[in-house]
Amino acid sequence: MDTTERTTDTVRRIFAQSDVSEPKRGESIKVGPIYAPTVLIVDDARTNRQHVAELLTSNCLAEKTLFAEDGLEAFKVMRATPIDLVVCDLNMPRCDGLKFLRLKATDKNLDGIPVIVLTGAEDLARKVQALTSGASDYVTKPFDAAELVARIGVHLKLRRLQAELQATNSELERLTKVDALTDVSNRRHFNLQLEEELRRARRYDRPFSVAILDIDFFKKVNDTYGHPAGDAALRAVAAVCKRILRCHDTIARYGGEEFAVILPETNREGALLAADRLREAIEREAIEHDGKTLSVTVSIGVASFPHELATKPGDLISLADAALYDAKRSGRNRVVAAL
Ligand code: GH3
Ligand code: MG
Ligand code: MG
Repeated sequence: MDTTERTTDTVRRIFAQSDVSEPKRGESIKVGPIYAPTVLIVDDARTNRQHVAELLTSNCLAEKTLFAEDGLEAFKVMRATPIDLVVCDLNMPRCDGLKFLRLKATDKNLDGIPVIVLTGAEDLARKVQALTSGASDYVTKPFDAAELVARIGVHLKLRRLQAELQATNSELERLTKVDALTDVSNRRHFNLQLEEELRRARRYDRPFSVAILDIDFFKKVNDTYGHPAGDAALRAVAAVCKRILRCHDTIARYGGEEFAVILPETNREGALLAADRLREAIEREAIEHDGKTLSVTVSIGVASFPHELATKPGDLISLADAALYDAKRSGRNRVVAAL
């Protein structure tokens, strides 16, 4: 088998492993555009850098190519710019390819960015070393253009699939914590946060408060304006909570038209102030829906830690709930704190 045949065979094998269609004989290989990737080319020789860059551009494999002359410069570029793939020469003065791989491994943010190293044919030991140091693949120099292009195509595709999987996973994780209608925390996440906050407050002997808000006569909003208007009001109340409260406060939809809030590092007096500011802001909020403007008020019950009756997270909720009930009974649109 001569070199050309071997290369063709390799290309065929790589294409067989991906769903990119294999090019016909004599046809230039077009693997992309995969998704507009940025590729970093690391080589001390300018002509080599340009050669690789031209291959990438002519095969629509890179939207953007960046260059570095040694491993250290490459590492700095990667820390400053999002990179999708690196093509890296192994032999370079100062910081060579292996040192670059070790540097890259020190930064977790660079995990998963594939590096294809270019090595001399005689360098078997170093090829193995490159792979064990984190390289995704190697291509032997003088490289066959089709082989390099095909390998880059496969690694970019894997990179894209990996990014999609990560995005899906983090969206799924977000959905386990968030209420779909209002985009604040859901009850399950709130309960976990409350447990955590109670542990923290006990450990460091710090105060914190919990507030439960219930929209007043909400049934009437639905009956008068319709359920979609009610939903708009729920979203508006959540948005006001986000706007008024601190970023490290936890805001959750606790039930149908009930919201619960954790105010870390806040004692009873502070919580009363915050809750009243929130109550006023909700009352003032003009809620636009379907050409109509409506407004709602809320009643709020507050309970603060430490409290002699609160040893479990549920105790604070019960205390805040009882205070909320008092707020409702004594006229609504007001804040009551548990004694
Ligand atoms: P109160 O001042 O005593 O709290 O009176 P209320 O009408 O708010 O209380 P009630 O518990 O009688 O009614 C709550 C209403 O909240 C009834 C239900 O239709 C409405 N609700 C619950 N969840 C949703 C929701 O997701 N969307 C909409 N639009 N309405 C909801
Ligand atoms: Mg209610
Ligand atoms: Mg209500």
